[in-house]
Amino acid sequence: MVVPVSTFLEEFGLSKNQFCPIISFGALSRQLDESELDALGRDVKPWGVTAAHTAGTTVRFTHDNRLLVRNGLMYATWLTSSPERIRRSRRMLRKAFNNRFPNHKHVNFEYVWGGMIHLTMNSRSVFGRKGNIFYSGVGEGAGIIKAFTMGTYHAEWANGVNSEVLDFLKNDKKPSWLPPEPFRTVGAECRLLWETATARGEI
Ligand SMILES: Cc1cc2nc3c(=O)[nH]c(=O)nc-3n(C[C@H](O)[C@H](O)[C@H](O)COP(=O)(O)OP(=O)(O)OC[C@H]3O[C@@H](n4cnc5c(N)ncnc54)[C@H](O)[C@@H]3O)c2cc1C
Repeated sequence: MVVPVSTFLEEFGLSKNQFCPIISFGALSRQLDESELDALGRDVKPWGVTAAHTAGTTVRFTHDNRLLVRNGLMYATWLTSSPERIRRSRRMLRKAFNNRFPNHKHVNFEYVWGGMIHLTMNSRSVFGRKGNIFYSGVGEGAGIIKAFTMGTYHAEWANGVNSEVLDFLKNDKKPSWLPPEPFRTVGAECRLLWETATARGEI
């Protein structure tokens, strides 16, 4: 069995005091029309930029001509987001959007969502095996590629295929220890408030 559920590993008893999950929020605009694309620059290819500051905004222009913004950091004590939090996140997402695209302030968001970014204190991932259970969790913000990679190598491990990458994943440094609740939430919320307060123009 492959259990690649990151922070949720704790609920399966496969990890303890390793993850500090963060909720972040994203908004995707409707598709831009011809005149809005002209205002953006006709020949511009799809792109993405990530803020230098931890609490800054990620911005993308997608293949289907939409603008995306992501920002907001909250500690995910209960491993879930909520409709109220997502509603509240709209203000900061809209502000980030309007600051960057003043000619597109009228373009509405078609989707707004919140989800978890599975962080560990030192950004190291969890990758292990207990009998026939293979488990993993990403430990950093750019988790999609990491999750995909670890899934691939779980499949190889389970099928007895050895490789240099598999050896690296098995022997890589482990996540550092985190204090238990309630200290974890209190510490994380303080740190996130500080990061948000100092991000300024990066939001
Ligand atoms: C707004 C936002 C934007 C992001 N943008 C990017 C980006 O541009 N690039 C990037 O690389 N990363 C991005 N991330 C982070 C990325 O989404 C995560 O790192 C990635 O999804 C982690 O993948 P995962 O499979 O480890 O965890 P998840 O995608 O969280 O999947 C875990 C799954 O386990 C399931 N699960 C939990 N418990 C159980 C159970 N008991 N039984 C069955 N299923 C269970 C959950 O329902 C969930 O589907 C973003 C995150 C957010 C919130």
